[in-house]
Amino acid sequence: MTIHILNYINGEWIPSQNGKTISITNPAHPNEIVGRVQASTASDVLAACDAAEKAAKSWGFLSPTVRAQFLQKAADILEVRKDEIAETATREMGKRFIETKGEVTRAVTILRYYAQEGFRKIGEVLPSAFQDHLLYSLRVPLGVVGIISPWNFPIAIPIWKIAPALIYGNTVVFKPATETGITGAKLVEVFDEAGVPEGVINFVTGKGSEIGHSLVGNPNVDAITFTGSNIVGKTIAQLAVETRKKYQLELGGKNPAIVLEDADLELAAKLVVEGAMKQTGQRCTATSRVYIQSSIYETFKQLVTDELKLFKVGDGLNQDITFGPVASKNQYETVLNYIRLGLEEGATLAYGGEEANQENQADGYFIKPCLFENVTNEMRIAKEEIFGPILCMIKVNSYEEALSQANKTNYGLSASLFTKDLKKSLDFVRNSEVGMVQINGETGGAEPQAPFGGMKESSSGTREQGQAAVEFFTAYKTVSINPN
Ligand code: NAD
Repeated sequence: MTIHILNYINGEWIPSQNGKTISITNPAHPNEIVGRVQASTASDVLAACDAAEKAAKSWGFLSPTVRAQFLQKAADILEVRKDEIAETATREMGKRFIETKGEVTRAVTILRYYAQEGFRKIGEVLPSAFQDHLLYSLRVPLGVVGIISPWNFPIAIPIWKIAPALIYGNTVVFKPATETGITGAKLVEVFDEAGVPEGVINFVTGKGSEIGHSLVGNPNVDAITFTGSNIVGKTIAQLAVETRKKYQLELGGKNPAIVLEDADLELAAKLVVEGAMKQTGQRCTATSRVYIQSSIYETFKQLVTDELKLFKVGDGLNQDITFGPVASKNQYETVLNYIRLGLEEGATLAYGGEEANQENQADGYFIKPCLFENVTNEMRIAKEEIFGPILCMIKVNSYEEALSQANKTNYGLSASLFTKDLKKSLDFVRNSEVGMVQINGETGGAEPQAPFGGMKESSSGTREQGQAAVEFFTAYKTVSINPN
């Protein structure tokens, strides 16, 4: 049976005002319709923002320890619904079931982490120059937060925005990526079941290009948190500035790994492949360039190729499968175009890169992991975010050359160095121009209690997750009380 998803506004599930819907298909079986979501209009967004505004005062006034109880309850419900929600996400965007289950587990941890934030300090008492005056600072809610999320982490990203928004006293209007609108609705159901008061969380689906700006520009919205592509992020930032809103952008990456001759090469090959190919390469933190010292180039290439050969491509709901489809027709065409472009630019295929349907006797958006060599930093495949299973190998003579080439990019999300040399490790921590550094780890490794975000064009300079989230989701109020 096809799932039919409604918008959630002021505590009620309601159809969009124009009654139109958008179908969501399964990338492993494009003829299968997973469900339908509302093709909302600007007036639906307006209603959602009004509801969030009406609820903002009373929710913001509740003690954070009381708000924490709602998050705890949501965590418990999400845990119980883990398999169902993970399966929905796999069917919507193709990520393997084991990975979507991992995402739900992570989301549960995030909810519990932010529930605890409800018990931590919300201000500081400061010394005053005036005798007897009480001077202190308080963290206060912003009001209404608009949340716009991508399809690649359809569970964890919405939760790592919704949970801190709510615990710090904000109400929310959440617009998921259309591709994963059903998963988004199931997350909202979790908060509904947890008894979150009406208007505190509101949910609208629809094309970002049609309704995104109604959300960002709405006068009742006080802040926008966005994760997605640089091109959309830029337009959101412009409108947020024009309409005087606080905004946060977490954007793309072109993440490098450097492998030096003294590294544990087997470990490095395993983690570089994991970094590049986990989730079919569709992670903002995916490794897409690997700089390899020339003395170990051939050995490392062989180790990487051996790892890639182990992947079994197919429907991620099948437990034997280790490499799912890309998320949509659009992704499929983009990735295949980049493979063609790489060949035209003079790179050569060391492994894979072809579509994998014939082999699978399937009709999904399957592409074999792709390993390019003879790549230079100037090629577009080494410069642009592809967001697919493509890894570019680049030969270098030294650590210094690798670092300089790794930094030659507009992006600055994450980077890895594989070495046993402590001095070079510390140099890399200091000089790699990224928000997240890994020594002997894969570029995508991130833990929910640690700040997450990039430098340069990968971010607006803000950070998500951990205690860093308080910076975005609250404002300071400074108070001075003269008791005399
Ligand atoms: P996208 O920018 O196409 O879409 C992201 C969201 O923005 C979706 O909800 C979409 O509907 C909405 N949107 C589209 N046009 C809009 C507009 N004009 N106004 C307002 N909203 C609009 O990105 P995507 O394809 O869903 O996701 C892939 C991108 O996300 C990649 O670039 C990836 O690197 C990035 N990403 C970054 C991080 C991070 O934390 N840095 C994490 C995951 C993904």
